Amino acid sequence: MTIPEPPPATLRLKVDYEALAANWRALDRLSGRAAAGAAVKADAYGLGVAKVVPTLLDEGARQFFVAHWSEVAPVLAAGALPEQIAVLHGVNTPADAAYAVATGVRPVINSLRQAALWREAGGGACHLMIDTGMNRLGLPPSEIGGPAIGALDIDIVLSHLASAEDDTDQSARQLALFEEVRAGVTARRASLANSAGIALGSGFHFDLTRPGLALYGGVPCAALAGDLAQVAYLQAMVMQVRSVPQGGLIGYNAAFRAPHPMRTATLSLGYADGILRCWGEGGALSHEGRTLKIIGRVSMDMIVADCTDIPDLAEGDFCDLPYNLVAAAKTTGLSQYELLTLLGDRFAR
Ligand SMILES: *Cc1c(COP(=O)(O)O)cnc(C)c1O
Repeated sequence: MTIPEPPPATLRLKVDYEALAANWRALDRLSGRAAAGAAVKADAYGLGVAKVVPTLLDEGARQFFVAHWSEVAPVLAAGALPEQIAVLHGVNTPADAAYAVATGVRPVINSLRQAALWREAGGGACHLMIDTGMNRLGLPPSEIGGPAIGALDIDIVLSHLASAEDDTDQSARQLALFEEVRAGVTARRASLANSAGIALGSGFHFDLTRPGLALYGGVPCAALAGDLAQVAYLQAMVMQVRSVPQGGLIGYNAAFRAPHPMRTATLSLGYADGILRCWGEGGALSHEGRTLKIIGRVSMDMIVADCTDIPDLAEGDFCDLPYNLVAAAKTTGLSQYELLTLLGDRFAR
């Protein structure tokens, strides 16, 4: 039997590709003489590489970063060339290295063990991550000088800023160490700045910047606020409108008791879609500019909201879940990164 196409989804994630393109252009301009690449790991922060990557290629982006080898095929299918894709987790097994060789996609080498795995697989062009103080993944400066690293064919030497969005001297210390260490590494290009790092000034730009969050409308620091536009917009359908009497209990565990007779709307999205329970503490949807406060517990697949003051709201209407990432982060206590990457597969993108 051929399975028919499913009907249109009752929850939507609209991606504003114009805004995405404009954000990349702004970040490329703010990167000065450096070129802006793009972090497209985690399916372009949840927005979908299938259209994000072609949009960025059209604007001129030529370097893409993913975390896992499983993320490579969709980025290739979206039109990026193998040599334009860097895998941040590097080669952790001989199978990783064999896949890198077979596809021509470049690993980021993060340790002496990864350098050995890469050499044993035949090697070729790669990138090198130096840890300049984040103590997460990457070679410590003390391990750079040896023959194992000297033998690598390094395209990009990179490091990652731990606190670029914070008012701290950690970034300047990481920059100084990066300058010092990279002097002893033979590489074609150097790269240090993520989104927030771009705002730290030309000293942080080197040859290539690696924005992620800011491409997708996140605003990591106030300095970038005026240059970035929202990219992700969420909508969900009202499946049922009900009248709840005073004292009526709403949702799981009776977490909300109607203080007066209410009209409520049951919407088709929930925590399985990435709209976690924390949205219940002060979150709201909107319909044509009018606010519907979320009431009671967020369920796996549903949210109930108060539409007492929106008498014309009808079953089948779509409501917006405001997804200005700065505001949504304040409402939920989630980071802007989490708000994007949590969004589930049931959203029609
Ligand atoms: C995720 C990531 C980026 C992008 O960071 P944003 O803060 O989202 O701009 C850049 N570089 C590395 C190594 C990363 O892991």
